[in-house]
Amino acid sequence: MEGIYIVLILAVVLSIVIALILSFASEAFYVYEDPRLQDIINLLPLANCGQCGNPGCKGMAESILSEESKLTSCKPGNQEMRDAIKEYLESHPNEDGEFTKVKM
Ligand code: SF4
Repeated sequence: MEGIYIVLILAVVLSIVIALILSFASEAFYVYEDPRLQDIINLLPLANCGQCGNPGCKGMAESILSEESKLTSCKPGNQEMRDAIKEYLESHPNEDGEFTKVKM
């Protein structure tokens, strides 16, 4: 019977240690991601063809948010897509309240 208590105590202690390690790791390895990124990805054609010179649509979305890529570099995209992204970015500033300049 004593063995069961020892195993239970060890399981609880091990769970607490693992929880602490995971908590520390999530703080130490936190990577900021612009909350607008997924919305921009969803507005792109999602062909992941790389014709824009980026590694897929996520890369293009990151490039748009960092004001590096022109929207016209997405070859499968049409004017409707470009207008939708432009309109979105004109109404959604970053966390500092600054608006991303859209390159057409
Ligand atoms: S060209 Fe357009 S569809 Fe192709 S990867 Fe770039 S953003 Fe995505």
